[in-house]
Amino acid sequence: MPVDVVWFKKDLRTRDHAPLLSASLSGNPVICLFILEPERLELDDIDPIHVQWELDCATDLSIALKALGADLHFAVGDAVSVMEDFDKRYGIGRLLSHEETGNSWSFQRDKRVLSWCRNKGIEWAEYPHNGVVRRLGTRDEWKRRRDKRMREPLSDAPFFSEGIQFGGEIPQLEDLGFYPRKLTMRPVPGEDAAIERLESFLSHRGREYRRGISSPTLSVKHGSGLSPYFSSGCLSMRRAVQETTSRIRWIRENRSMIQGPDDWIKSLSSFRRRLAWRCHFIQKMEMEPNLDLVAQNPVIDRNLRRELDDDRFERWKDGNTGWPFLDACMRQLNSTGWINFRMRAMIMSAASYNLWMPWRETGAYLAKQFLDYEPGIHWSQVGMQSGTTGINTIRAYSMTKQGKDQDPSGEYIRKWVPELSMVPTKFIHEPWKMPIQLQNEISCVIGRTYPSPILDELESRKEGVSRSYAARGGEEARSISKKVLQLHGSRRRPKKRRGKNVKGVQQKLF
Ligand SMILES: Cc1cc2nc3c(=O)[nH]c(=O)nc-3n(C[C@H](O)[C@H](O)[C@H](O)COP(=O)(O)OP(=O)(O)OC[C@H]3O[C@@H](n4cnc5c(N)ncnc54)[C@H](O)[C@@H]3O)c2cc1C
Repeated sequence: MPVDVVWFKKDLRTRDHAPLLSASLSGNPVICLFILEPERLELDDIDPIHVQWELDCATDLSIALKALGADLHFAVGDAVSVMEDFDKRYGIGRLLSHEETGNSWSFQRDKRVLSWCRNKGIEWAEYPHNGVVRRLGTRDEWKRRRDKRMREPLSDAPFFSEGIQFGGEIPQLEDLGFYPRKLTMRPVPGEDAAIERLESFLSHRGREYRRGISSPTLSVKHGSGLSPYFSSGCLSMRRAVQETTSRIRWIRENRSMIQGPDDWIKSLSSFRRRLAWRCHFIQKMEMEPNLDLVAQNPVIDRNLRRELDDDRFERWKDGNTGWPFLDACMRQLNSTGWINFRMRAMIMSAASYNLWMPWRETGAYLAKQFLDYEPGIHWSQVGMQSGTTGINTIRAYSMTKQGKDQDPSGEYIRKWVPELSMVPTKFIHEPWKMPIQLQNEISCVIGRTYPSPILDELESRKEGVSRSYAARGGEEARSISKKVLQLHGSRRRPKKRRGKNVKGVQQKLF
């Protein structure tokens, strides 16, 4: 009897999992499959930390599946060879999976798998994932279809009567010659941990979401911290949206018993909007699968003529630019694999406007640092923050101002840049202004124990911004920007914002 193969990719959960449910109802024997693809580890945007995280989530999944009567088989190799081997051994009737909207590599891999299935006469049933709509004709339709999908009922984890038993070891990255770096504060992997994190956010942590989200320290507590779970699919987007909506309803209904209900509702509504952003950005990659390789507006990108300077790149990567707040953020990211939205934007803005480095190299470095790397969001954001879409306001952050706003006492800087631990608050954001005598007294000599600023921050930012505006001018660049807006722009009415738009192209920010 032919088997149903459920191929787990970025959907490492048992609940609200349409392919798994469908296989359980088919009456055919079922093989659950997870493939570790070594070729992925050679890509410049994939890091061993990503694969280790997925392996750990898959290990948790294998335990959950066992309790449901199914076994997860771990295979190592390229997907087509693994499928070929399974077909020879068991005879595949159907392949079931979620649609994946990943990077260009996974897009090409899926094309190879599809062509293999067609040659073999095997049906590949792909189910929609998140709020991404495959073969969407026009963006005008997207929001309605996404919202409708989010309202559909959640499905429970199914039971299996006829699973195929697998022994076998869980593969170790070290055996393949890859050594993931150790992350501090790495979240607990797996579906139960993801649901617990969502619950703790909705029940109390998220109350202060709006107040805390921009601060690199408060966002650790009051942000949801769900992104790595979404990226590995331990949590379905539909569940997150529905539970958030229920929680908002509950607060509304019990407002008389709750302190500050309106602020709480605002916080959770703002969180729910970000869940929609997630789908919105991944949809861009779905519609333009090479966004990780080619800028949305290649003419602007070409006009910018940014170049990779090795010394600047190394200092930016290591958090040794001499700009204390930026260095602290980079070091937090390198150590934990996570940092909040505003700081990601600032890090990218520093790379692009102050240091004038090309988005592809800096974006790939950041992708490797983020445990939650999600190509659709990442490369869209990299494009926005580097000024290469042509449809977004050029937003170049002042690192000193961000530091003063988000870390007025300098505690955060002192934590992540211990060379500055003795610097008084008055100088913590601009330590190069300390009198030399003070520098000697506290053993923090700028240029020796901590670098001098790599460039003048204000001057380099001003120059970067003006070169970026110049690169957007010209008919060719503008006409592409219009197309970008048509293909990817949000259909929400734009809010009035300060900042310049491309002439003739109405700017729409999501
Ligand atoms: C240059 C740059 C690169 C980024 N790369 C990634 C990435 O690889 N993976 C990733 O998940 N996010 C990325 N983001 C978006 C954002 O920074 C993270 O989603 C967020 O910091 C994750 O933390 P959280 O789960 O606590 O978020 P919360 O604020 O609690 O938000 C909940 C969820 O909403 C989604 N979300 C939040 N903000 C955004 C946003 N601006 N755009 C799209 N979706 C959003 C995420 O799925 C997030 O988990 C990037 C942002 C920038 C500026």
